[in-house]
Amino acid sequence: MTLPVAPVTRFAPSPTGHLHLGHAASALLAFAAAREGGGRFILRIEDIDATRCRPEFEAAILEDLAWLGLAWETPVRRQSEHMADYGKALAALRAHGLLYPCFCTRADIAREIAGAANAPHGPDGPVYPGTCRGLAEAERARRIESGEPHAWRLDVAAAMAQTGPLSWEDEGRGCVAATPAMFGDVVLARKETPASYHLAVTVDDALQGVTLVTRGADLFSATHVHRLLQALLGLPTPRYRHHPLLLDETGKRFAKRDKSLTLRALREAGRTPDEVREMIARCRTAAG
Ligand code: GLU
Repeated sequence: MTLPVAPVTRFAPSPTGHLHLGHAASALLAFAAAREGGGRFILRIEDIDATRCRPEFEAAILEDLAWLGLAWETPVRRQSEHMADYGKALAALRAHGLLYPCFCTRADIAREIAGAANAPHGPDGPVYPGTCRGLAEAERARRIESGEPHAWRLDVAAAMAQTGPLSWEDEGRGCVAATPAMFGDVVLARKETPASYHLAVTVDDALQGVTLVTRGADLFSATHVHRLLQALLGLPTPRYRHHPLLLDETGKRFAKRDKSLTLRALREAGRTPDEVREMIARCRTAAG
């Protein structure tokens, strides 16, 4: 008989606003999964995007989650302090010949897509048409040398050719075959954000020993890319539980711009943590 392994779960918010009821539900779920399985719960601050993240939101996140009754391991990992880890992963992918510099501006890409007969759409919108994938090595080197701004994209077809078919275990959905090509060649690094969400989250879940990723169904499709990165970087694959998203009274997903149902606003209005849990239990949900 194999004993069930105590799960390591995490909640990984970006400090770009106050937490709302949807975040609270997600955090409570991760916390409960760790507790029930006799495992560990980790809180991680995903603050790579310096243009949108603010220290006051991070402080508010810690305060609001503690108020809600959650406890986590310290020190809390703050992604902005670990850029070297993501840099190492990027270097490994480059060494495998799987990254290429992309010099296209957003306007270049939009123009190219507008001119294409049938531009494919992925989960994040129109798929990058691969303009810079075929540039000659000498041209790449010359343009980088001249200081031309560029992003680093993953050559997904070449990467999948290296790894072969991939899949992951998703609770409720079973074994899911990874099809990251639907995103096109994703950006893994830019000048202003030297590690993308996809790269940082994959590296961190592995470095922190996360064995059960619980997160909203809106991030289900991102797992296709994460699974590919795990295979390329030789990282373990956690189990995934993509939970339905909470809806407000009008049937819309909660968003950071809705100020009235943030944990902060509810707390200031005199609601107790138990009342917040009850509100969450009464909310309708959507599959994402
Ligand atoms: N930082 C992401 C967000 O706030 C969540 C990342 C994840 O759970 O994988 O949307």
